[in-house]
This record gives sequence, C-alpha cells and structure tokens, in this order.
Amino acid sequence: ESLYKIDAWGAPYFTVNSSGNITLRPYGQSTLAHQEIDLLKIVKKVSDPKSTGGLGLQLPLIVRLPDVLKDRLESLQSAFDFAIQSQGYEARYQGVFPVKCNQDRFVVEDIVKFGSPFRFGLEAGSKPELLLAMSCLCKGNPEALLVCNGFKDVEYISLALLARKLALNTVIVLEQEEELDLVIDISKKLCVQPVIGVRAKLRTRHSGHFGSTSGEKGKFGLTTIQILRVVKKLEQAGMLDCFQLLHFHIGSQIPTTALLSDGVGEAAQIYCELVRLGANMQVIDIGGGLGIDYDGSKSADSDISVAYSLDEYASAVVQAIRYVCDRKNVKHPVLCSESGRAIVSHHSILIFEAVSASVPNTPAMNPLGLQYLVEGLTEDGRSDYAKLTAAAMSGEFETCLFYADQLKQRCIEQFKDGSLGIEQLATVDGLCDFVAKEIGATNPVRTYHVNLSIFTSIPDFWGIGQLFPIVPIHRLGERPAVKGILSDLTCDSDGKIDKFIGGDSCLPLHELEGGVSGGGGVPGRYYLGMFLGGAYEEALGGVHNLFGGPSVVRVAQSDGPHSFAVTRAMPGPSCGDVLRVMQHEPELMFETLKHRAEEYCGQENGNGDGDTDDDDHGMADNSALASSLAQSFHNMPY
Ligand code: PLP
Repeated sequence: ESLYKIDAWGAPYFTVNSSGNITLRPYGQSTLAHQEIDLLKIVKKVSDPKSTGGLGLQLPLIVRLPDVLKDRLESLQSAFDFAIQSQGYEARYQGVFPVKCNQDRFVVEDIVKFGSPFRFGLEAGSKPELLLAMSCLCKGNPEALLVCNGFKDVEYISLALLARKLALNTVIVLEQEEELDLVIDISKKLCVQPVIGVRAKLRTRHSGHFGSTSGEKGKFGLTTIQILRVVKKLEQAGMLDCFQLLHFHIGSQIPTTALLSDGVGEAAQIYCELVRLGANMQVIDIGGGLGIDYDGSKSADSDISVAYSLDEYASAVVQAIRYVCDRKNVKHPVLCSESGRAIVSHHSILIFEAVSASVPNTPAMNPLGLQYLVEGLTEDGRSDYAKLTAAAMSGEFETCLFYADQLKQRCIEQFKDGSLGIEQLATVDGLCDFVAKEIGATNPVRTYHVNLSIFTSIPDFWGIGQLFPIVPIHRLGERPAVKGILSDLTCDSDGKIDKFIGGDSCLPLHELEGGVSGGGGVPGRYYLGMFLGGAYEEALGGVHNLFGGPSVVRVAQSDGPHSFAVTRAMPGPSCGDVLRVMQHEPELMFETLKHRAEEYCGQENGNGDGDTDDDDHGMADNSALASSLAQSFHNMPY
C-alpha cells in the first residue's frame, strides 16, 4: 500500500482493505466503515456473466461513482462557504462546471442535480457544449449560471441569446473584441437583453505546463486596451448595464496559493476599475486551475501536484478579492469558479487487465552448448572465457561481469562476420544472463501487456506526458516480486507506459498467477486501475488503431454492509461501431465478406466427388463462417 502511496493521492476516497484490495469510500471523509466497497468485487460482478446479476462486460472498464462526484461538489461549496463566513465576505460562491472536462451525459446531469441546492451551473466552450448545457440546466436551479466561453460566431451568439429567452441565467463572455459587435447586433434583432462578461488577459503568468494560456501573450482573452474599448462601445450602444461579469483563467493545475492570490488580486483590481467606469458588475469568475495532487507529494514544483488543500484555495481567493474591493469601497462580487479537474477527477476509475507478461530470460546453460561455443571462439574469445571462469572461481563478481560482457561483444562481431552460428550466439546470451542472475546484478524489467489503448484511454500520458496513479487493485497485501512497464494492445510503439508517479520508469508488479503467457501456463487475472482520470481523458481519446472506448458502469453504495448497486451499464463500442466512425459501413462490409465466403467455401465443396455429405458440411461451414463474421463486427476491438 505504502509502496504505491495510495493513502497520499487516494485520500479520502481510496484505501486498501484487509484482503489487500482497493476499497472505495464513496462519501469521502464521511464514509462509515460498513459503507466501503471492494473495487475488485465490482469488477468481478460486472465482468463475469456467471456471477449473480453479472453483466459480462468486457474490460477495459470505467467505474463511475456518482457519490464521489456529489462529495467533490459539496466539498468545494463548503470550502468557499467556510472562507466566506469566516472572513466576513458579503456575497456568495456560485460555481460552474466546465463541461469540456467530461461531457458524459450522466456526469453533467449528476452535477446539475447535486449542485442545484447551491445554484451550481455549467460552462460551455462550443455550440454542442452549449446545447447540452442548455438542456441539462432546464432541470437545474434557475439561478445557476450558464457561462458561454470560447470563440463565438453568429450561430453561437444567437444560441446563447436564445438560452436567455428560455430563462437560463446565461452570460456571454467575450474572448475576442470582434464578438461584441455581433452580440450587440443579434441581441437587438432578437430583442433579448444580453448579460455580457469579458475574459481578461492577466499579466500574472503561471509558468507550468498548464499555464501557457496565461500572461499577456496568452492565446485567449482581451487586453486592457480592448477591455476599455468594450466599455466605450457598450456605453455608446446604451448597454453598459449588460456588462456584469469579469472572467480570467490563469491555467490548469495552479501550483501555489501565492500565484493564485497574485492573479486573483490583479483581476479584482480590473473588476473595481470596471465598476468605477460604470459597468453593472456582479460576478467575478476566476476560471479553472484548482489542482489535483496526482502523486500525493503536495509539491508546488511539478505539474502533477499542488501545494494546497480545497480550503486553502477557497480562502486565498476570498481573501484576495475582499482585500482589493474593501480598499476600493466596491461591493463584494459573487464568486464563480470553473473548476473542472477538481470536481470530476476522482469519480471515475479505469480498470484494465494484464493479459500476459514477457517471459524472463531463462539462461540456457547446457554444458554441451558451452563446449560448442568455446570451440567456435577466436583466440581472444577463449582468453575472455578463461578469465571469466577464473573470476567466477575466486568470487570476483565485477570481473565476471566485465569478461562476460566482453565475450558477448566479441561473439556478436563473430556472428556478424559469419564465423559463429546462431546456437552459439544464443549460448553466449544465456551465459551472460546466468552470470548476471547468479551475482544478483539483474532484476529484469518485464513488459506487462494490458488490454487497453493508451491513445484512447490515457491520451494525456501519450500527448503531454501527464502521469496518473496506476496500481494493481488487488493482491496489495503481497509484496510485488517484479518490476514492469505496461504495454498496450495497439500496434504502436508509443502505446506503452514506462513512467510512473514518483518518477519511476517501472512499476512494482505481482507475478501473474499460473505462469506467464508463453511460459506454458494460463495467466491468472491481474487487474490494474488508473485513478484520478475523470477529467479530460474521456473526451480527448480517439480511435487510433480503431480501438474503441471502455465499457462504463455507474456504481452506488447501497444498503447492507459493503454492498453496492450497479445503476447503469454500457458496453464499450463494438468493432462495427468504431468502423462506422471512420465512414465504413459494417453492414455492407459483412455482406461483401459473406458473399466471398459463399463463393470460396462453395468452390471448395464443389471440387469434391459429388458426395452429398460434403455439400451438407459446406452449408454448415458457410453458415458457421457467416455467423462468426457477424459476431466479429459485434465484438469489442480488444
Ligand atoms: N475554464 C477555462 C476557460 C479553461 O480553459 C479550463 C481548462 O483549462 C477550465 C475552466 C478548467 O480548468 P481546471 O480543469 O483546471 O479546473
């Protein structure tokens, strides 16, 4: 457990039980001991068709925990409520969830439902996101904000204005100055009074990987000069009272509260200036950036950790805004944040299985082979071999290794010039492995083959090298005997994980039960989980190698000790589904292949001696072939 630092990155949602399995604590801190759920039991239940109520879903599998989502939302809200109350701040916190972090229908619907008591809203960055946010918020709190960010064209702005007509509390946040003319024109045409916000480009810069959108040269937002022009134009149009919100986004994974306070303080100054210039300011929207401690190190020096808690984050925001507003005698604004990662990361776990592991080299040390090898060696080679043997006798291990390696290099040269056979080359490899093993100089890193596509399921690892905690979900009471890297099932050399939290290039793993693939045994089930991947990963993944996405189940804690209910189950896309994504037509493909089968199998049977039995077999073979082909389109790609 401590080997994988589960308590550091997993608290308060994940821990390990006395059976050595990862246990879920769906209500975070408030989870009672009898409410904990064994993750392995969920995996077995949903993947085994024979277990009671088993669903027979294939792995990889996403296990979603709506209770965790609820706990995250409530924890964020209460962190701000506490900071507001304890610092005497005179307005409320009212957050929005940026749907780009996870657009899954049930995730967004859950957030709207769980956040309704405290007016939690949504942020959209494109037209489809706006459509989904509009429809979900119809069932939400009417005061919940619908923040419209992103680049906007006529259609986007018209849709956002329509949302206001539908009594959704919509704010159009200008990301480019040109959007303002469109907003003024279209709102007049549609006779809708818009609520307008501006995204400011701050001078404060976040220098980590996720901070490239911040600073004066950042990709998004309006400069000071542009903001002043917006004020003037709105004044001229008689619409300055529509300008009500100031937004900024320092970047994701803000490392420290010092940087946060700096950025928020700068934005609060802009906010107060806008009040002075006559805008009807109500809300300050501090964007995303509330970070996740993926490795549990609480360090400000890496992109995968942050040096503050939820409470410290909220406290820093409230303090920075209150300080500036009080000095300028400005009414405290409603506080909005667009925290994505911090809300959804914990609620979903990606489970996959090691289906095989590479076979460790077993030194082939038969004396006949050695004799044959020595006979083929050059003078120098024989001398190396003699020195190796002498060093072994006198226990000089370093010298052994040196001569073993030198001998091997000589043998490779000899093989290349054709003076040594392949069996002799294999013998020298075996000899070197034997020497390394005997003197304990080797603990070879194995390759564990895992049934997923990294491109589809962990795209940020492949794209930006982001690390997530990956651990076996069972056998945690046993000391792992080997170290391994994880290789996925795609035919792509980038499809491997060879960097893990803590900076390690391999992961401690357990031997597969029943032997390893290729070693003659049937591998035992060995499940691994990738945690904290509920944000961004699901939306970014593509269909590289035509591997589809995972199966998904929603799991809730239910009555009875340690019991749970699967409230929804969705198998992953089939081969037919992923082919359709690339414009293929699986039905037509099946017909083509079926005709081909009839043609070829028919021919084979027709070549016979006219024996009717053979023809019957042909018919049976054909229909078996057709149904096996049809099944292939329905199967999952892995
Ligand atoms: N708001 C905006 C404008 C963003 O660009 C992002 C993501 O980078 C977010 C919110 C969500 O950020 P986070 O996931 O760090 O909370």
